Amino acid sequence: AIQDKRALVTGGNRGIGFAIAQGLLAKDYEVIITSRSLDRATQAAQQLQGKVIPIELDVTNDRSINEAVKTLYQKSDRLDVLINNAGVYPDNNVNIITINRELLDSTMNANTFGPIRMVQAFLPLLEKSPNARVINVSSGYGVLSDLSADVPSYCLSKLALNGATIMLAQALQSKGIVVNSICPGWVRTDMGGSSAPRSPEQGADTAIWLATDAPRNITGKFLRDRQIISF
Ligand code: NDP
Repeated sequence: AIQDKRALVTGGNRGIGFAIAQGLLAKDYEVIITSRSLDRATQAAQQLQGKVIPIELDVTNDRSINEAVKTLYQKSDRLDVLINNAGVYPDNNVNIITINRELLDSTMNANTFGPIRMVQAFLPLLEKSPNARVINVSSGYGVLSDLSADVPSYCLSKLALNGATIMLAQALQSKGIVVNSICPGWVRTDMGGSSAPRSPEQGADTAIWLATDAPRNITGKFLRDRQIISF
């Protein structure tokens, strides 16, 4: 029998992650959505149609990641798609001169080290898939030529996430696992605010395409609007 394809979306309870989950469910994927709060994940799951599983997961906490791996093993030992979407944007009224180490630490932890730890922890399940794909939701703020001194921890974290994408793609090539970064554009979410031009569905499109239909020779790349762009 043909097995269901299974995807995990971090931060799948709202915003772009929710729209990615919705798009994958519409393509008949079983989708695990995670939030730091099981309540928030469960409430979001109730608003989605299809095979959706809510899980509590804090990408900054190894114990929480390991618990999520165990929970998933109870359902299956295989994961086809990992979408590292969870992220934070805490640079309010700070710049590269005034920012403190705690804020740098917490942003890097969530936006960069979180996705790296997620790949490490879920690798045994991804290896069970014949065609696993990892998508890191990054940002145009992580492009070298567009760094902003007024958005220092976020820019650094996404720049480093783009670097991690290149390294992970290289390290996982021999296992047939493809890894890419995307920029969703400026999207109307809690993070993006209400004046952003794009809907969450528009922001989710490239991630959904990379997770399902994109040619598998695209790996270690950075994409926006289904096009490869420069890092
Ligand atoms: P939201 O603030 O709407 O959602 C962020 C999501 O991340 C929430 O589901 C939140 O869940 C989750 N999250 C935050 N911290 C953690 C953590 N430590 N562990 C697990 N989950 C966490 O943001 P968006 O939907 O706008 O952003 C999604 C991604 O898109 C982010 O990576 C962001 O950087 C990126 N992006 C967004 C843009 C935009 O314009 N909106 C532009 C460019 C990139 P909970 O709080 O329940 O844990």
